[in-house]
Amino acid sequence: MVSTKMYEYGSKRSCIRDLFEFGKKQKAIVGKDNVFDFSLGNPSIPAPESVKDAILSILNEETPVAIHSYSSAQGHDSVRDAIASSLNKNYGTNYTKNNLFMTCGAAPTLMACFKALICDDESEIMAIAPYFPEYKCFVEASNGKLTVVPADTKSFQIHFEELEKLINKNTQAIIINSPNNPSGVVYTEETIEKLSAILTEKSKELGHPIYLISDEPYRELAYNGVKVPFVPSYYKNTIVCYSYSKSLSLPGERIGYALVPSEVEDFEMVYASIAGGARASGHVCAPTLFQRVIEKCVDVKPNLETYEKNRNLLYDSFTKMGYNCAKPDGAFYLFFEAPKGYTALEFSEKAKKQNVLIVPGDDFGCPNHLRLSYCVTTEQIEKALPIFENLIK
Ligand code: PLP
Repeated sequence: MVSTKMYEYGSKRSCIRDLFEFGKKQKAIVGKDNVFDFSLGNPSIPAPESVKDAILSILNEETPVAIHSYSSAQGHDSVRDAIASSLNKNYGTNYTKNNLFMTCGAAPTLMACFKALICDDESEIMAIAPYFPEYKCFVEASNGKLTVVPADTKSFQIHFEELEKLINKNTQAIIINSPNNPSGVVYTEETIEKLSAILTEKSKELGHPIYLISDEPYRELAYNGVKVPFVPSYYKNTIVCYSYSKSLSLPGERIGYALVPSEVEDFEMVYASIAGGARASGHVCAPTLFQRVIEKCVDVKPNLETYEKNRNLLYDSFTKMGYNCAKPDGAFYLFFEAPKGYTALEFSEKAKKQNVLIVPGDDFGCPNHLRLSYCVTTEQIEKALPIFENLIK
């Protein structure tokens, strides 16, 4: 016997993975330059040179035992000190190492938060469509219920009327993700202020805090000077799930953190429960070598030139061709409406026949749209544009 739930998670591949696997097979048949794989969010710009320098200097300076040993579960003190100082410098905060818990990226941080905040079978975590599909698996595996606020498909900000309707006594937390996967939209300061006001009011009304989980793997990926509001500065009960997967192009190294500000209600209990949630998910410590790398590269910013060029090229071309899409100010995704007469699934299938791989929005809770990941070379986009033009004709 095995767990039915786990069997399902393990045997049912996501639509994104299906497309990716199809792309791999197709490349072997028609050649890799003739498959346009816009399915995965794997960073295409290399990690900054300073990351390599940091790895080499750590390898040269420290003993192998120190480099590869376990750290404390919450991470090395000096690493957390360095991140706290960097956040304080950037956002005018007063964090210390005690507000930080080092993790293996955003996904396990989210899992630890869900485990910490889901108290019983009735507990609900609310996501805003379009949302990262793994939230559903993480919440349900933690015995909670994911409720979804339908998308505001005009601006891809938050549909506040729907959100207010859905909040109830079982709402433990709301999860937001900005810059957003899959829409690429950045929540404005006005959106965050309004959300904060509603959550403050509702928490008072319900007699318990509604925590705001801010999932931030794309925090540094915003274009053209667009400001990404720092959510804890607006709402005190915010927990940040941060990752270096996209900002430093290190998705395979598995490194990130949870930030629990001291202002969070029941701070010590919340921090300890996130540590407990991590432990219960098998967390021992974040990779020691990459904790050290982050300490050395804490203020390194990505070079966004290629992503921004891709974004401009795609957005301008798509709108000219007649596709209807949200303006993506951040992350590396373009989210567009399925052309008239098609469902997103049908349009994805039609594109697949031309070896163009784009993901239907159904799993993101936004069934009429499709996601295109533009973390690819600009040449790939240039070659694919005439195909997109034909597809909409
Ligand atoms: N959250 C969102 C919105 C993502 O897009 C991703 C990865 O694509 C993750 C979390 C997981 O990121 P990580 O690699 O840090 O686990």
